[in-house]
Amino acid sequence: MTASGESGAPATTSDPDCVFCSILAGKIPSAAVRESERIYAFRDIAPQAAVHVLVIPRTHEYANAGEIASGDPELAAELLREAAAVAKGEGLAEGGYRIVLNTGHHAGQTVYHVHAHVLGGEPLGRFGA
Ligand code: C5P
Repeated sequence: MTASGESGAPATTSDPDCVFCSILAGKIPSAAVRESERIYAFRDIAPQAAVHVLVIPRTHEYANAGEIASGDPELAAELLREAAAVAKGEGLAEGGYRIVLNTGHHAGQTVYHVHAHVLGGEPLGRFGA
């Protein structure tokens, strides 16, 4: 699927083998938390904290944080703004929360469609190996 231009919507790319693209296309159900023109946020199916939300761009173009930061810095900034807005909307701003962008297999990245995990709602363990 390539949605472009004529409607005024930003162009997006999609990969039929990508689970997040299937979620965006409505082929796999998800629990929406927040939506904007370029970003979608939904609850992780295997939550690792009391609140665990994934924030993804609608386009498949970028596999990880470095790629989106280089390729579309404004979209990267929007991803982080939306992650912070999710945290606020979920009531995490006061207690604190974590935004995680796993990059590559040593970090446990399993979906190569850039995404930010927003985790909180309880004290979080320290990260590490
Ligand atoms: O950072 P990583 O690539 O490991 O994160 C992918 C996340 O996508 C996982 O936390 C997994 O639970 C989530 N997921 C999901 N719904 C799916 C497939 C994966 O929430 N249908």
